[in-house]
Amino acid sequence: ELLLQGQVAFITGAGSGIGRAAAVKLAENGAKIALVDLHPENCTEVKQLVEEKGSEALIVEANVSSVEDMINSYDQVIEKWGRLDIVFANAGINGVVAPIEDLSPDDWDLTISNNLRSTFLTVKYAIPHLKEKGGSIIITSSINGNRIYRSFGMSAYSTSKIGQMGFGKMAALELAKFRIRVNIICPGAIETNINENTWKEKEELKEIEIPVIYPKGSQPLEHHAGKPEQVAELVLFLASKQSNHITGTEIYIDGAESLL
Ligand code: NAD
Repeated sequence: ELLLQGQVAFITGAGSGIGRAAAVKLAENGAKIALVDLHPENCTEVKQLVEEKGSEALIVEANVSSVEDMINSYDQVIEKWGRLDIVFANAGINGVVAPIEDLSPDDWDLTISNNLRSTFLTVKYAIPHLKEKGGSIIITSSINGNRIYRSFGMSAYSTSKIGQMGFGKMAALELAKFRIRVNIICPGAIETNINENTWKEKEELKEIEIPVIYPKGSQPLEHHAGKPEQVAELVLFLASKQSNHITGTEIYIDGAESLL
């Protein structure tokens, strides 16, 4: 029997990058997948990939920072499949890259809302659907939460990512009594759409970067950024019963980038 046979996974940011790779990986292991994204058109291809793995997918259009959208999204999933087992709170943005002096309060709010308020809402509205039988919640933070030296100009992003760690640990503690596990994954640079513009924008901020022997996005283990599929393997492990004694922890997946 497949590891996640009969289970239902709710994945935010499923249209691209890490969320997309996780959707395919969990489907390959038997889970039905709710593909939740602000841009549902990006989920059409992922839906096909999930179906090619012999599973089912539901595309859900939602802004993860909206209360109404999140309540609605879970309702759609329960209506279709009648259960929820795995929540991957993964959607996020880099936001505007600028020194603090130049960062507008609105830009600050947008990043915090997209990355941190969204995590709170994604977890909060999952609880009623998980508390009877337990489940696994995985939150995508970043090495950026703790290792920020490569991230000048990303104060709001770093704040949101370290905020997710604190929130995730509190959630793990509170929800343990329901056998709901909550873990936080911290990727280093991963080749996805999120970095394209940021790396370009950051070129302009070069003067405040600390020079490093590894170029941007490169990691000691492989001398290049990681791949979404590598992160998806960790998501599978944390989603499955193979990790059933792991909760409230943060796991780095970065090819030792955080040691630079
Ligand atoms: P991506 O841009 O490839 O995918 C993110 C997806 O999230 C997109 O499909 C986007 O439409 C969706 N999204 C964004 N805001 C949303 C919102 N408000 N509501 C619903 N959907 C929304 O990026 P990715 O690299 O796959 O990023 C996924 C997560 O991984 C993010 O939380 C990011 O901070 C984190 N992360 C990425 C890296 C990296 O180097 N790529 C490193 C560390 C952490």
